[in-house]
Amino acid sequence: MADLKNEFSWSVSRDKTFERCKRQYYYQYYAKWGGWDNRADKFTKKCYLLSNMTNLIMWMGSIVHNVAERTLKYYRYNKEWNLSDGEKYAWEQWKSGWQQSIKKFWKFGRIKDNINLFEHYYNKEIDANRIRELQIRMDTCLKNFYQGEIWKRAREVSPMQWRALEELQELDVDSYKVWIKIDFGYQDGNLLRLCDWKTGVAKQVDLLQLYCYALFVVDRWKWLPQNIEVVPVYLYPGEKEVIKIDDEKLAIAREMIKTSCEAMLSYLDDPVENIANIERFPKTPDDTKCQDCFFQDVCD
Ligand code: SF4
Repeated sequence: MADLKNEFSWSVSRDKTFERCKRQYYYQYYAKWGGWDNRADKFTKKCYLLSNMTNLIMWMGSIVHNVAERTLKYYRYNKEWNLSDGEKYAWEQWKSGWQQSIKKFWKFGRIKDNINLFEHYYNKEIDANRIRELQIRMDTCLKNFYQGEIWKRAREVSPMQWRALEELQELDVDSYKVWIKIDFGYQDGNLLRLCDWKTGVAKQVDLLQLYCYALFVVDRWKWLPQNIEVVPVYLYPGEKEVIKIDDEKLAIAREMIKTSCEAMLSYLDDPVENIANIERFPKTPDDTKCQDCFFQDVCD
């Protein structure tokens, strides 16, 4: 099989990493490339391992996302999950992931299939109160998902009207490849509602993510902007916002993506071949960002 090529593409998470620390961006998107292969050198393998790491708060968020996705997918096939099913599944995930991480299963099994928590890997002290808070947050998110308006409305309109559910999709913005995964999208009359489950606090970048969803459905599915609403659903504490899409918002998103891509490419040795050199990616001068960075182990 031919070796995979590391092609340049854009995503909101890539942009966030680039803005946070250029060296971290290099580790995450270049140094780790090919580290899944046994033939890779030690440094590449280590970067690959670290790039697949998660932390307690991110992991809790992904469990909630998994529950929402499963609940919707099961419903589509006539199997209904309620809050207690969701909670049961979430706790099984939590317990098995904890074991995978603490026992370092990732050393022996596939890295991608085993949770590796930042807190365990770097021997951080885990305060029992913090775990309790996270568990309360996870339970609250699940409760707000099952009792929320979106899940209720999704069932009322029926799965026939569901248009997107966690599929990885690609679009071009100004010739740059952009990856998106819409958490959930459904048609309600002549409106298309694109939803994003959030388990953390509201951030400005959440909107860019949602505008990217809208760009995709306008570009690929030919929806009119005025018939699209984007909905960040903040499951903790349990609020949502409904934002109507218009040409201006889409133009802002396009411009932001283009500017971000140009900045990323300006750091490369060869933008056409997507070739990067660590020397051109400086470490952040802000030490506080290093404290929770997954790449501490390779960043000397
Ligand atoms: S440890 Fe600090 S300087 Fe190094 S990659 Fe992480 S954030 Fe950047």
